[in-house]
Amino acid sequence: MKKGIHPEYVVCEVTCTCGHKFKILSTKPTLKIEVCDKCHPFFTGKDSRTALKSGKVERFKRKYGLA
Ligand SMILES: [Zn+2]
Repeated sequence: MKKGIHPEYVVCEVTCTCGHKFKILSTKPTLKIEVCDKCHPFFTGKDSRTALKSGKVERFKRKYGLA
């Protein structure tokens, strides 16, 4: 068994700028993100009209390769 070839997955605590925290499996123990499904209008749908107007959804899609 050689070390460093296969990344070891750990439970990663992700912290969003909105304060929401959740856990995923990652190679890093902690991760910080700018938006999550709890605060981004693209997911919440609360402010979708504003988001569409300002092009936030498009930017978001591009950022995550969804467009
Ligand atoms: Zn968030």
